[in-house]
Amino acid sequence: MNTLLWAPAAWVNGAWCEQVLLRVGADGRWAEVTPGQPCPPGAECLPGPVLPGLVNAHSHAFQRAFVGLAESRDSEHDDFWSWRDRMYGVALRITPEQLHAVACHLYSELLQGGYTHTCEFHYLHHAESGQPYASEATMCHALAQAAQDVGMGLTLLPVLYERAGFAKPTLREDQRRFATDVGRVLRLRDAVRGWRLPHVEAGVAVHSLRAARPESVHALRAALQGDTAPIHIHVAEQTAEVDDCIAATGARPIAWLAREGLFDARWQLVHATHTVPAEIEAVAASGAGVVICPGTEANLGDGLCDLPRWLASNTPLSLGSDSHVTRSWPEELRWLEYGQRLVRRRRNVAAWPGVQPATAARLFDRVLAGGAGAAGWPRAGLATGARADFVLLDSTHPTLAGVPAAQRLDALVFGAAERAFTATFVAGRRTPQRATAGPMAAAMQALWHP
Ligand SMILES: [Zn+2]
Repeated sequence: MNTLLWAPAAWVNGAWCEQVLLRVGADGRWAEVTPGQPCPPGAECLPGPVLPGLVNAHSHAFQRAFVGLAESRDSEHDDFWSWRDRMYGVALRITPEQLHAVACHLYSELLQGGYTHTCEFHYLHHAESGQPYASEATMCHALAQAAQDVGMGLTLLPVLYERAGFAKPTLREDQRRFATDVGRVLRLRDAVRGWRLPHVEAGVAVHSLRAARPESVHALRAALQGDTAPIHIHVAEQTAEVDDCIAATGARPIAWLAREGLFDARWQLVHATHTVPAEIEAVAASGAGVVICPGTEANLGDGLCDLPRWLASNTPLSLGSDSHVTRSWPEELRWLEYGQRLVRRRRNVAAWPGVQPATAARLFDRVLAGGAGAAGWPRAGLATGARADFVLLDSTHPTLAGVPAAQRLDALVFGAAERAFTATFVAGRRTPQRATAGPMAAAMQALWHP
């Protein structure tokens, strides 16, 4: 069955168009997008401007249960690694039922924040003892079911996680729930695909070069011959990781991946914070994408990526909410640009004078296209054949009222408009506005006050 919609304005091909007719096909994809049409009889007239939904390209759903619980310091030093040790506290305790409750809550928040699809970088597989569950995909299923329950699209990425570091051939005791090898990663991927749940897909991930043996990365890559699904990897998030990689392999992490001939357009480099220009050139030449997680990178003190060079290189870029300290894309884009302004003491770093001078518009279009690549899709946005994922913008919102269309995205991002999306649609279907907080509160109570 076709659904006929009409919007007073919509973001089509990188610009606001007026009076847009939108037809959703029976497959949940755009069958027609035609600007400049009056609202025809029988169409549902949407009350505000329409923006395409974005892919949230990097998520660890269970870490939503840790948001706000690591913002105190009791010792001289606190950094990414001490945060990680504390984060393992929840990783070691959370049950499949609690993971489902936390993920339902999170995915609902992300839908309200303008995301319509999440790439779940999933390494929490086994029971608290470290033994596999009787059904080894139990934790994958908790996430997939949560996405189904709230209407979020999902790309599940079971993670290869084998060792504690470059010079540490086994996992630490507190990493026992993460243990996988190439065979298990592929079985988990196949299990997810076998469920045939609507809008739930599966690729794979490598946790990082420190956590996977080089021969395993090659073996996984070889096993994916002919598979078009994405391959995600954390890379160059922390300078210590870069230094350890150089000590172990003689190369920086991105340079090592390029040197080994592993890259192609399926690869998505999560963070890619600490780079040299030759690495950016190598990534750009391969067609691989980069997933930036500005809120989490700020929270963890990771550093700032070389955004101007990534933009200029035409590398596909996307956004990830990662540890979920932020759960809306306008806020992530604000962090992304403001970090660059603070360190460079300039304004509108991401703008492209003469081509796309509006900063938020340029960033939005880049992460719209890059997010589709991170999910493994050929098309993005309000375009025929792309999945009909979109949000309705409240043009009467106090921050947006009276703002000219050309600056609407800038006002949304830099005006810090709260709750500006009035509805979110995935595959043409309106998602529930809000998950009840009860199951999340019960899971938090059980996790933190047992
Ligand atoms: Zn991550």
